[in-house]
Amino acid sequence: MEVKTKIPLLLEQSIKGRTGYTIAELDVPEVPLQELIPPAYLRVEEPRLPEVSELEVVRYFTGLSRRNHGVDVGFYPLGSCTMKYNPRVHEDMAALAGFSQIHPYQPASTVDGALEMMYELDTYLAEISGLAKSTLQPAAGAHGELAGLLIIKAFHKQNGEDQQRTEMIIPDAAHGTNPASAMMAGFSVRTVVSNKRGGVDLAALKSLLGPKTAGLMLTNPNTLGLFDENIIEIADLVHAAGGLLYYDGANANAILGIVRPGDMGFDIVHFNLHKTFSTPHGGGGPGAGPIVVKQELAPFLPYPIIEKGSNGYALVKPVHSIGRMKSFYGNFGVLVRAYAYIRTHGYPGLRAVSENAVLNANYLMHHLKEYFALPYDRLCMHEFVLSGKWQKKVGVSTLDMAKRMLDYGIHAPTIYFPLIVEEAIMVEPTETESKEVLDHFIFLMQRIAQEAIDSAESFKNAPSMTPVGRLDETRAARERVLRFSTQENS
Ligand SMILES: *Cc1c(COP(=O)(O)O)cnc(C)c1O
Repeated sequence: MEVKTKIPLLLEQSIKGRTGYTIAELDVPEVPLQELIPPAYLRVEEPRLPEVSELEVVRYFTGLSRRNHGVDVGFYPLGSCTMKYNPRVHEDMAALAGFSQIHPYQPASTVDGALEMMYELDTYLAEISGLAKSTLQPAAGAHGELAGLLIIKAFHKQNGEDQQRTEMIIPDAAHGTNPASAMMAGFSVRTVVSNKRGGVDLAALKSLLGPKTAGLMLTNPNTLGLFDENIIEIADLVHAAGGLLYYDGANANAILGIVRPGDMGFDIVHFNLHKTFSTPHGGGGPGAGPIVVKQELAPFLPYPIIEKGSNGYALVKPVHSIGRMKSFYGNFGVLVRAYAYIRTHGYPGLRAVSENAVLNANYLMHHLKEYFALPYDRLCMHEFVLSGKWQKKVGVSTLDMAKRMLDYGIHAPTIYFPLIVEEAIMVEPTETESKEVLDHFIFLMQRIAQEAIDSAESFKNAPSMTPVGRLDETRAARERVLRFSTQENS
């Protein structure tokens, strides 16, 4: 016997004949496999699968889950990702049989309730955004961006201007998905620089606008967590040049019930239901990135959309639809969670979400700016960006500090983004954390800043208290090993 230090693979625990299930006796005549499947397709060797008990399976997967950080484990201030707590009641709603046991091939007439839920979610998102009509199909924020950009393209095409309007203007602070989606939709990207206050530089914008302008992609508050007060002027300038305005609403946590993208002059917006509206996320989905458009653009929406008629709800194809963005109706379970979230909060609750998210971010920013450089020292919205440049001078990088935080049991903030801030540390506390948690975070951050001065070398081995040490981050992201494997992963 040896002392086990790591979780053994399930296959290593396999004992011939051990099972974790019981199946009822067969009560119909047994048909030999060879009669059902041509022998040429039947496998000759038995698959190498672990034969284990239910308890072994439970321990194995529980063990794996405990090696990871999640919002159910501790604070997760990952900026631009809105890792808020997701109330369990929404999971219960998504699991209701009327939602979870229906099939996308069922006739629409048998799922009126599901259609009603989607229709109402559509109207709520329209109300929250100040726009007219949505599609719930896109499966992620970036997918919504692509849908919105294809609509912009179709709009210009209808006006006979698609050959000419080829440029999408995007700020240098934008999320990386914005330029990627624009390229994917066939636009060329023009970058507009930010001004000293962290907003769009108006002179630079004016110099980019012209007959080639297809549109501007913006998020407000932007990825620096700052609200651009020039937004009305920006919208007027873009519209005057013949372009459309796309709002990246992935992080709507600062605006709910307070300000609406439609009122700011935007024509299209996407929401990340998995960020703002309560679906657990990370690790790649499932998510939902519905887009909402102004009335004039509704004829271009992907199909099907849901309309309310005299005989109930109907699935409709808009006249100039850009086509389908996804099979069936999108990630339906995520839609149910968002619907439940909006219904449980109501208008006052949603407004309180944003007020508290903004309050929490400003509270942290105020207490941390003594210890970390703050490039844009002004009221922030739901998140803010510090710089680790003071610590970098004494040999401790933002990456080093992020790794140290893991030893203290908190997830690191987003780092090195947005790109325009040197050694960026982007913090988003969300509204679901208590003052005690925020105070503890301030305490730890102060301690890390002090450690950087006192013992810079101690950072090099961080993290040392986590299940794995410092990883090759590129390889960990690019060569992920997510499948059950019969081989030891190196
Ligand atoms: C997360 C995010 C996106 C992309 O959303 P996905 O669902 O990951 O595709 C786009 N823009 C901003 C500002 C974001 O934070």
